[in-house]
Formats: sequence, C-alpha cells, structure tokens
Amino acid sequence: MSTSENRTDAIVIGAGHNGLSCAGYLARGGLKVTVLERRDVIGGAALTEEFHPGFRNSVFSYLVSLLDQQVIRDLDLFQHGLELLQRPGGSLSILPGDHLYLPRDPASAQQALARFSAADAAAYPEFEDLLESLGDAIRVIATQVPPNFGGGLSDLWKVLGQANVLRKLPADRQADLAELMTMSIGDFLDRWFESDPIKGLYGFEGIIGNFVDPYAQGSAYVLLHHIFGQVDGRTGAWAYAKGGMGAITQAMARYCRSQGVDIRTNAAVSEVILDKGVAKGVVLEDGTALHAPVVAANCHPQILFGQLIDPALTPDRFAKRVAGWRSESATFRMNVALSELPKFDTVDHDENGLTAMKNTIDIAPSLDYIRAAYDDARMQGWSKAPVVSMCIPTLMDDSLAPPGGHVMSLFCQHFRRHLPDGRSWDDVREEVADHIIDTVAAHSPNFRQAIVGRQINSPLDIERKLNMVGGDIFHGTLHLDQIFALRPAPGHADHRMPIPGVYLCGSGAHPGGGVSGIPGRNAAQEILKDVKRRKVG
Ligand SMILES: Cc1cc2nc3c(=O)[nH]c(=O)nc-3n(C[C@H](O)[C@H](O)[C@H](O)COP(=O)(O)OP(=O)(O)OC[C@H]3O[C@@H](n4cnc5c(N)ncnc54)[C@H](O)[C@@H]3O)c2cc1C
Repeated sequence: MSTSENRTDAIVIGAGHNGLSCAGYLARGGLKVTVLERRDVIGGAALTEEFHPGFRNSVFSYLVSLLDQQVIRDLDLFQHGLELLQRPGGSLSILPGDHLYLPRDPASAQQALARFSAADAAAYPEFEDLLESLGDAIRVIATQVPPNFGGGLSDLWKVLGQANVLRKLPADRQADLAELMTMSIGDFLDRWFESDPIKGLYGFEGIIGNFVDPYAQGSAYVLLHHIFGQVDGRTGAWAYAKGGMGAITQAMARYCRSQGVDIRTNAAVSEVILDKGVAKGVVLEDGTALHAPVVAANCHPQILFGQLIDPALTPDRFAKRVAGWRSESATFRMNVALSELPKFDTVDHDENGLTAMKNTIDIAPSLDYIRAAYDDARMQGWSKAPVVSMCIPTLMDDSLAPPGGHVMSLFCQHFRRHLPDGRSWDDVREEVADHIIDTVAAHSPNFRQAIVGRQINSPLDIERKLNMVGGDIFHGTLHLDQIFALRPAPGHADHRMPIPGVYLCGSGAHPGGGVSGIPGRNAAQEILKDVKRRKVG
C-alpha cells in the first residue's frame, strides 16, 4: 500500500521549462504536484552553467522571445527573479570582406540594404510589415490548444475561432500566410529579394533546428515559428535573460515551490504505472513507486511512448505515428569563454559596431551557402562551411564573465545525429569544435587566441543530456505534418494521450519547441478541466 509521502495529485516527468510551467499552473489550480527530473539540475534546455572558472552562459537555448506573456504574468516570473534584457534589435550578417547590419529602425535598415540592392531596400518595409502582422496572428493560434481531429462541438468552435483570427488579416496577408505555410524558405525569399545577404539572413531563420534544404517545401514555416514571440510588446524581438536562460527556469521553480510543488532531481522515471489501461503513477529508476491519477510528461514523445510506456498498449495508428516521428535538428552548440571581445574584420568596435554585435551575428551569407551546408551534412555528416549563429550576451550582461572577459554562444547547423561509417560524436566532437572555431576565425583575427575555455554539445551530447531523441532541439521537427492539430498525433493535439491520465506537456505538443511555456500551460489547463469533470482522479 502506498504511503501519503508517495501519493500526490499529479506527477510531472521532467523539470524542463514546460514541466515547470505545467506544474506551476496545476499547483495554482489546487493540485498537489511532484516534479521528477532525471538530471541533477532542473531546467532542461533552459539552463545556465559555469562552463569555465568564472565564465557562465546558457548551455543550450540562449535567447528569449517566445516566452508567453501570460505565462510570465501568471507565474510571476519577474517577481521571482527573471529579468529580460532587450537587445537593440536587428541582425548582423558577416559576409566575405563585408557585413550587413539590419537595425530595427526601418530607414537605417533600408540604407544598409541599398548597398546591395535598391530593389531589396524598397521591398524591405513591406516584408517587415508582413512578418509583424503574421507574427501577431500566429501568436494567437500558437498559444491556444489546437482543435482535435475527430473532436466535438468545442473543437468546431476552436476551428471557427482560429479561422476568424486569419479572416481578420487583409487578403494579401492571408495569401502571404498560405505561402509561408507551404513554400520553401528559399523560394519565398527569392520572390521578395534579389541580393544574397538578406536572403542568407532570413534563410537561416528557416533552418534553425531544421535539417532541410532551404528549397525544401514547408521550410518557410520555421521562419514563422521564430517571429510569433514578443519582448516588451515588440513582435519578433529576441532578448537575453539576465544570468542566462537558467534564470527562466529558476524563476519558474521559485514560483512552483511557493505553490507547494515538490521538485526532485536525480529522479529518473523508468515506467508509467498502468492499471487496467489507466495511469496510476510512475516508477523511478531506483525502484521507488509514486502514485498519482495524473501523469504529465515533459519528456520527448518517443521517450514517453518507447521507454516509459509500451507503445503496443496504444492504438496501432498512434503507435505507428510515434514510431515514425521525425526528430533530428542537426544542431551543434558551443560556448566559448573569451579573454577579450572578438573583432570581426569588417565591423568596427565603435558605437555602431558594438550596437550591432549586441544582436545575433550570423555566418550565413547566402541561400547557396546554407544549401551547401545541408548537402555536405547529408553526404558527410557535417557541413564543411557550417551556418554559425553567434551571440555575445556579456555585451549586455556583466554577470556572466569576469571584468574584460566575454562569453559567446555558437549555434551551428548542420550536424547530423548519426554520422556515416559508424563514427561516433564522442570521437569527433573536439575536431568539429575546432572546425567551427576555424569558420569564425576566418572572419575574426583575434578570435582563436581569445578563447580560454569552451563547452561543446554535439547532437549526441544534446540527446544524452536532455533525452532529446535525435538531438532534436524542438522534440520533433516542425514540419507541416508534425505541427498544430498533427502534433504529436491526430486526435491528441489537446495534450491528452491515448492512455487515460497521461498528458504530454513538453515541446512534442503544440506549438512545438522554443522556450515558450505554452505546452506546459495548455496541458495544465486541459488536466484541470478533466479533474473538474472527474475524468481523472
Ligand atoms: C542547443 C539548443 C538551442 C536552443 N536555442 C533556443 C533559443 O535560443 N531560444 C528558444 O526559444 N529555444 C531554443 N531552443 C529550443 C528550446 O530550448 C526547447 O525547445 C525547449 O527548451 C524544450 O523545453 P521542454 O520543457 O519542452 O523540454 P526540455 O527542456 O527538453 O525538458 C525535458 C526535461 O525532461 C527530463 N526528462 C527526460 N526524460 C526523463 C525521465 N525519464 N525522467 C525524468 N525526467 C526526464 C529531461 O532531463 C529534461 O530536463 C534550443 C534548444 C537547444 C537544445
């Protein structure tokens, strides 16, 4: 018989930010909640670590935009220590012998673009307007639970409600949305622009965490996914979390604890307990059983239905769907500790240059470059000339490094989880890290010698550390057949899994990956509805 110590109202598997968001909302709704995290730290992919003595940085995710405003308010994240540092805005692209900096101010951005193409400069304001209005519309849909296939009247209302959001867009924007949902990022950008640098800059947005040819149909959606966020009311803006992304999950954990949530680390779940096909709790790797009528899984869908629940216990169609889930983002992530600020050949360390460097600094000079990066990785496992996206948070946050020192995040595409010829990432990760450093050093003469420490996360490291199958940073690719009402499976987009009492509250659910807190929040709301209607408990 179970004691009251190992009996609770709801168990959350995983203390990633969505697990914590889910736990916070469940506790707020009156449930007694236990969160079980297999690692010795909480945060999942939203984590800060000291990776070299005196140097700290976000380990995996490194920028905030998608974090839902309502989640911030409801979980009192600012009161619990979160501070967002709004960046000046815009992007800096490092080009061979040149650079393109597109500041937030449209007139200055047009001026910068005009050096490459007068036509592109003329097209830019309309393009920006398109992104902003579609970002606002997509946000409404991204934050709601999608309608379910085979659902009832309430799902019909959802369809109508969401269609109404799109109906309110001007006809041109509706057409733009249809194109962005279906086209390749390459074809979409070719329609708008003629010069390479701007196409490279926005082309990168379509392949962030997305192992695809930029001319693959559907790749434009990933651009949309990255513009629905908001910082200080600015659509599409990206900020730093002061102290790194761990500040978000630490604030969530503080809120959870203030609501009585029990958060346990070193508590890997090995099995979901089922009784007559209904969830009754979980068993930990050390054999401890914990009992609850609600089990919310923050882990990857293929961990839930593969390691923790036998997929054969689910309907055949669902089991096949999960088995065929595509999960590989081809991402390699590094941090470097720097003794001084890197100097890029063509970017001065004057006021303008330093303002530009507070934003994301990309090596993605053209769509051809991005395409070659994909082709190389497809054939040889990784890109000879990788796409590298860099951030130097210490330009705005002096809490991360000693005086004069800096840290840089490097987010790199494309690096396959499984290498040809059976090679292991454990054997090549240092070599590949050197290769990425060489790629940056080709544009920055002081970069290599400024490095005093580094932290490497290969696709295998990401998979091993976070249980992210295939090293997929989003818990499953954001392809058209794996988003919205199809995420993770038709009929289960409302977080209810085919086993009563089991819910998916992580990025494998709508709206997918990114530090948004939305899957956690929405799952909790559905769970609380079921508890109220006595469907579980
Ligand atoms: C390298 C990288 C860079 C990224 N960059 C950004 C970015 O800059 N901005 C952004 O918005 N998004 C970014 N993302 C995406 C974003 O970070 C993730 O999509 C999101 O954080 C996932 O959150 P989650 O809570 O759903 O899952 P996770 O963060 O994956 O958390 C799941 C948790 O479950 C735990 N777990 C798994 N199995 C078990 C088990 N059996 N028992 C107990 N616990 C278990 C894991 O250890 C983990 O802590 C990035 C991701 C990565 C990996």
